[in-house]
Amino acid sequence: MTEQEKKLLLDKRYLRMARIWAENSYCERRRVGALIVKDKSIISDGYNGTPSGFENLCEDEENKTKPYVLHAEANAITKVAKSSNSSEGATLYVTASPCIECAKLIIQAGIRRVVYSEAYRYLDGIELLKKAKIEVDFVEVN
Ligand SMILES: [Zn+2]
Repeated sequence: MTEQEKKLLLDKRYLRMARIWAENSYCERRRVGALIVKDKSIISDGYNGTPSGFENLCEDEENKTKPYVLHAEANAITKVAKSSNSSEGATLYVTASPCIECAKLIIQAGIRRVVYSEAYRYLDGIELLKKAKIEVDFVEVN
């Protein structure tokens, strides 16, 4: 197996794990999972949901996502901030392509690579990441 094939295999494995992690989300409309990997270790994880201490419901009466729901990437990045780890140079695996707000956080967190498995409505987040010279890879998982 070539190095490239090994890398792809590992990418798919982490993305599958992120997809399983998304099942933790209480959000009805959409469930997203994220993992931050550094030196072959998972240093953080996240799924979309309300901040700690808030009720778990993500949607309001009109089935709209509440404005204070955090995205999976934001939850994973802020979890690192609370820990003794650093996301500098890490890879972020996320089941859906990051939005522009999360892209800003990813850049500032020093994450060097983003791997996603599903393209979201808007791709301005991906464009911003590329502009910041972050390696962005789309990997399909079945
Ligand atoms: Zn986002």
